[in-house]
Amino acid sequence: MSGLLSDKICVVTGASRGIGLAIALRFKDEGARVYGLSRTKPDADIFWISCDITDESSIESAIHAITQKENRIDVLVNNAGITRDGLFMRMKTEDWDAVLTANLRSAFLLSRAVSRLMLKQRSGCILNMSSVVGLHGNGGQANYAASKAGLIGLTKSLAKELSSRNIRVNAIAPGYIETSMTAVLPESVRENLKMTIPLQRPGRPEEVAEAALFLCSDAAAYITGVVLNVDGGMGM
Ligand code: NDP
Repeated sequence: MSGLLSDKICVVTGASRGIGLAIALRFKDEGARVYGLSRTKPDADIFWISCDITDESSIESAIHAITQKENRIDVLVNNAGITRDGLFMRMKTEDWDAVLTANLRSAFLLSRAVSRLMLKQRSGCILNMSSVVGLHGNGGQANYAASKAGLIGLTKSLAKELSSRNIRVNAIAPGYIETSMTAVLPESVRENLKMTIPLQRPGRPEEVAEAALFLCSDAAAYITGVVLNVDGGMGM
């Protein structure tokens, strides 16, 4: 531990597993007080607040619970996300809505709630978990790609709007990372995906967490509005 986030209050959504859990643990390792928001409890030693990020009142209660204990929030990582893949012509409206609600609307609601505090503090950092799919699109993932592209628009707009108050807003675009989200893909799809990766292997959640740590620490104090690919070269 080198204390890159010493005493920082960090909120990470989707911290029960996968990339979010790796980020929460990495931030904790650097001295942060980490609050993980998810529906299931992580099997890890972080503060956990039960929260359904598709439910506005659940988000409000979670942020309220944190601010009752802490008088500030330094970092928000909008990481929670879902997929409901399917061919566009057959995509159900509820699958479109579910993905846009979980992936994009949640980031709007959380960022709005937390940026109110950050504006008062005159400092803060928001990190949105986008995807290479948000940059390049993907057949069978129109809803997911739209949500992840939307996060990039949100990131850049917030970066412009909040930078005068010393609030930085960035995004990460992971490629193919081995988590429960990608474990459900058929073996053949995973093999094909690997062939599109110049580094010739999937990424690990811990590798995304390193990029998140950099962007949320003072090492990135002069970086805002960027989308950092963590994808083994997939999105080149
Ligand atoms: P996982 O499916 O492993 O984890 C998803 C996390 O999101 C869980 O902690 C889950 O918690 C949380 N979550 C989902 N829905 C809700 C909800 N309604 N309320 C609260 N929490 C919710 O996914 P990954 O770790 O792979 O993905 C993390 C992020 O990275 C996602 O945004 C994903 O789109 C993005 N990403 C992942 C890639 C990959 O290859 N894995 C590639 C590019 C982007 P719980 O179920 O306990 O509520």
